[in-house]
Amino acid sequence: MNEHNDENRTERRGGTEIATDGGSDRDVVELPHQIELPRLLDFYELQTEETTKISEFYDNLADGQLTTTRCTECDELHFPPRIVCPECHSDDLEYVDLPHEGELFAFSTVRAGAPMGMEDEVPFVLGIVDLGDVRLSAHVDNAEYEDLEIGDAVEMKIVEIDGPVDHERVFYRFEPQE
Ligand SMILES: [Zn+2]
Repeated sequence: MNEHNDENRTERRGGTEIATDGGSDRDVVELPHQIELPRLLDFYELQTEETTKISEFYDNLADGQLTTTRCTECDELHFPPRIVCPECHSDDLEYVDLPHEGELFAFSTVRAGAPMGMEDEVPFVLGIVDLGDVRLSAHVDNAEYEDLEIGDAVEMKIVEIDGPVDHERVFYRFEPQE
């Protein structure tokens, strides 16, 4: 008996149903032609008061100011902003302004595997930026990896996110200082 004589058969390999047509040595894996992407694949979180408890952070950013929370009990500064202090568990936090100019602590280039909405931007630079008393990661626009050095001066820029939600969204990025 020769198993390769089967005209049509279904094999099970590693838990995946694979249909073969007998006319080719290649397996055919069927995927839906259209899927509804879950919102979780969207890199940017929802920013309204109804959808996040740090909506004030986004409101401030939309107004042109990068902010974060400081605990009024123990004075701890956090980034990203919190709703409860990770140090002393107080929820008595206030929003404070962050400087918009900082310096590169580290950086790398993303060449593949970018999140949804960033696929067309590769390669792009991701930086870790020291900004006053906080350290955060973000896109570094208008920069080539080869031209950057640790310690380079960068400044914050605000971008608008055009996506599948019915409210305006913003986010922060950096770019080299002139
Ligand atoms: Zn605290």
